[in-house]
Amino acid sequence: MKGFGVATMALGLGGLYGTAHASGKKGAGPAAQGECKLLPLSYPYDALDPWIDRQTVTIHHDKHHAGYVKNFNTALRKLSEARASDDFSLIKHWSRELAFHGSGHVLHTLYWENMSPKGGGKPTGELMAAMGKSFGGFDQFKKQFAAATKAVEGSGWGIMAFEPFRGYLTVLQVEKHQDLTIWGVYPLLVCDVWEHAYYLKYQNRRAEYVKNFFNLINWPEVEKRYTMAKRLVKYR
Ligand code: MN
Repeated sequence: MKGFGVATMALGLGGLYGTAHASGKKGAGPAAQGECKLLPLSYPYDALDPWIDRQTVTIHHDKHHAGYVKNFNTALRKLSEARASDDFSLIKHWSRELAFHGSGHVLHTLYWENMSPKGGGKPTGELMAAMGKSFGGFDQFKKQFAAATKAVEGSGWGIMAFEPFRGYLTVLQVEKHQDLTIWGVYPLLVCDVWEHAYYLKYQNRRAEYVKNFFNLINWPEVEKRYTMAKRLVKYR
């Protein structure tokens, strides 16, 4: 498990998947899988003062973050209803809602957990070593992170993440956190729907291509990746 320490921290899966789970029983229609609830802060609302004030933290957590959780659960329920009734006519709408509010919930959970009244200083151990390998050192990371975060256009986030394909840390600017993912996901099965992937044979018949894609899926490989991804979950 040691090698996954940085990844777990960067992806922050623990705070979302596990202790944050709600029962999924509330609301109309069938219960949705894995509904979430808003976790209380692990510190008082004024604990980040003077750097972030009590009123900002209170409104941010109790109103903004709470709204993401509520609407994420609504999207999960609506998608559960869609599967139950085999009615996917609103799939674009609910997929967007899922991505927007799911990402909002994940990123705010990480944001609160990333801060502490006793914070500051520098990382140590494996994380510091990873910064040396990835950025050339803490100071270089700090400069890049600050520059990238400051330069995000409009609303968004500065993010340091673990990129598992190379095994390096990286800094990303996120301008629209809903486009169209939930941060921290680990892809298991992907289907290319850029036109170059199917146009010569299928032209505009993308649905037919996607249907036939199911004849090709290497499920043992997908399952292997699922087993790997499960190891990133800190709590169950
Ligand atoms: Mn926010």
